Amino acid sequence: MLDLLRTRLKQGTRTSSFPRRTDDLPARFRGLPVLGQPGNADPSAAPSRLLSTGADGQPVLDVGACLFSPEEAGSGASGTISYSSDYRMAASTRQGLLSHSGEVELAKALDERMRRLFGRSLRLRSVAAGSCGGCEAELVALGNVVFDLARFGVQFVASPRHADGMVVTGTVNPNMRLALEKTYEAIPAPRIVIAVGACAIAGGPFRGSAVAGTGVPDSIPVDLYVPGCPPHPLTLLDGLLRLLGRLPAEPAQ
Ligand code: SF4
Repeated sequence: MLDLLRTRLKQGTRTSSFPRRTDDLPARFRGLPVLGQPGNADPSAAPSRLLSTGADGQPVLDVGACLFSPEEAGSGASGTISYSSDYRMAASTRQGLLSHSGEVELAKALDERMRRLFGRSLRLRSVAAGSCGGCEAELVALGNVVFDLARFGVQFVASPRHADGMVVTGTVNPNMRLALEKTYEAIPAPRIVIAVGACAIAGGPFRGSAVAGTGVPDSIPVDLYVPGCPPHPLTLLDGLLRLLGRLPAEPAQ
C-alpha cells in the first residue's frame, strides 16, 4: 500500500495543462494538412477526396475529407501535401474546412444565449451511426485522466432526453439515418450537433460504398465539424471550447 502511495505521489499530476499550455505532441502526429505548391497538385491522382478542383481551376484542399494517411501526403498531390503539427482544425461550417492552402476557418463561438445555456455545463449524447469504432475510442479518451473532459463541464449522457446536443460519428449509413434523426428530435431545443471524424463530415474512407452514407444528412444542422480519422482528443477539446466561447478566436497558422 505504501509503495502504491509513493508511486502515485511520484507520478504527480497527469492531466494535460490544455488549454493553458499544450504538451508536446509526438513527432509522428499528423496534424492540419498543408498544400505546399498548389501549382504541382494533381487532384485526379489523390487517393481520397482530400483534393479537388475548384470553380477557379485551382486545387481545393478539403480538410474534412482528409484521412491523415501517409499515402495522401505522398502520392496524389505529387508530394505537395504535408502534415503540420497543428491539432487545431475544428470549424463551425463545412465551407470553413475548404481552402486552397489548407488554412481552416477555426470554429466560432455560439451566440450569447447559447453560451449562457451551455458555456459552463454541456451534456452530450453520442451516436455511432456506422463507424469503425476509432472515433468512439477517442471520445472515450476524452474522459481519461489526461484529457479529463469533465473539468470543462462537458459530459456524455445515456439518453437524448437528458442531453443538450449530440456527437455523431460514422458515415450515417441508411440503417442509422432514421435513428439519428429521431435522436436529434428527442433532444430538447435549443441543441447543438457535433460531427466527429471524416466519416461524419464527408463519408470518410467508406464514401462511395452502397451501404455507407456521406456523413450527417442535411436534415440535421451541424454546429461543429471536427476533422480527423480519428480526430486527436486535443482537436476535439479545442473545437468544443471554441464553440463554447472559452478559447479566444484566432486565425489558423
Ligand atoms: S473517421 Fe476514421 S476513425 Fe472515425 S469512424 Fe471513420 S474510419 Fe473510423
